[in-house]
Amino acid sequence: MEIHTNIPLKNYTTMRLGGPARFMVDVHTSDELKAVVANARSKNIPLFVLGGGSNVIARDEGYNGLIIRMRIPGFEVVSDDASSTTLKIGGGEDWDATVKRTVDLRLSGIEAMSAIPGTVGASPVQNIGAYGQEIADTLQSLEALDVTTGQIVTLSNQDCGFSYRHSIFRGDAKGRYIIINITLKLWKSLPQPPFYDSLQSYFDTHNISIFTHQIVRDSVIAIRAEKLPDPRDVANTGSFFKNAIVDNWRLDELRQQHPDIKTYDMGDGTFKVPSGWLIEKVGAKGRLYHGMRVYDKNALVLINESATGYADLAAARDEIVGKVRDTFRILIEQEPLEIE
Ligand SMILES: Cc1cc2nc3c(=O)[nH]c(=O)nc-3n(C[C@H](O)[C@H](O)[C@H](O)COP(=O)(O)OP(=O)(O)OC[C@H]3O[C@@H](n4cnc5c(N)ncnc54)[C@H](O)[C@@H]3O)c2cc1C
Repeated sequence: MEIHTNIPLKNYTTMRLGGPARFMVDVHTSDELKAVVANARSKNIPLFVLGGGSNVIARDEGYNGLIIRMRIPGFEVVSDDASSTTLKIGGGEDWDATVKRTVDLRLSGIEAMSAIPGTVGASPVQNIGAYGQEIADTLQSLEALDVTTGQIVTLSNQDCGFSYRHSIFRGDAKGRYIIINITLKLWKSLPQPPFYDSLQSYFDTHNISIFTHQIVRDSVIAIRAEKLPDPRDVANTGSFFKNAIVDNWRLDELRQQHPDIKTYDMGDGTFKVPSGWLIEKVGAKGRLYHGMRVYDKNALVLINESATGYADLAAARDEIVGKVRDTFRILIEQEPLEIE
């Protein structure tokens, strides 16, 4: 294992911002991970785990600690019966390559999450989701290194405290666990309707009425290509803002003031208000703020066109958040975590 020094984080994050990491190391096994963490902790060096860098923001001052890049591989069937297959997948595997493998095996459960950038190990952190599926629906358990004890622990789905784009890994237990692998239970059945609205509309306009795993995957990839910039070509982190969640009372008020407001019932007494719609309504879509462009095909996405540093990003974010707050009295939140 080679520990590199003074590595520019802008080369490891898809927003392409950020100063140097003091140390950076790739880990390929859980033993390597344990050794690296024990060593850093004995020297009081702060740690940050990085996957593909597609949902983090690095600051200009960089990171005065050790960045651990998760590279642990693995794709193994742990059990199989007539209706389901349970897989254990290494945290360093590429997420979309993993989805492809499950689709090739004709397994259902994560096909609608095709083409989400990043690693398997990061997938539980914000409970990734798209087109009606989220990782919480299929994740049985995961193994993680508890950096406070140096022990590898197994956490159940419930232990992870999943909710919309959230888990303990970005909440109360932020920084405590390094996810080594995840165990998913996937179904041998075909993907079943009802599908997410925009996916169903795509099926309707393309006269698709047979829903194989591959057709769902191909359709999702086609829809995403229309409204999400590819981070290999354009610096971005996908949705920069989380969708807003409001309760019944607030929704009634909003509907009175904005009868055309779009909402999705979350089924638990709360409603999701698409932040992209809010941002569009305040006239920010397509506009440039401090070198950051609100993507003209999807107002949830901020593109780093010419930001000179983190301060530009923060100024752009604050201006957009302020416009939405002043118009709707809704505080939209940044989705990507900051490397700190
Ligand atoms: C174009 C684009 C589209 C996107 N679309 C979606 C989407 O549809 N749905 C969605 O949910 N997200 C989406 N994202 C966000 C992103 O792809 C996901 O959040 C993804 O899971 C991040 O993976 P990563 O490996 O890049 O994580 P990173 O950005 O490297 O890390 C994200 C966070 O997870 C932590 N982390 C990473 N690996 C581990 C680990 N092994 N153990 C513990 N903590 C870890 C990091 O410390 C950090 O806090 C999109 C991003 C882009 C750029």
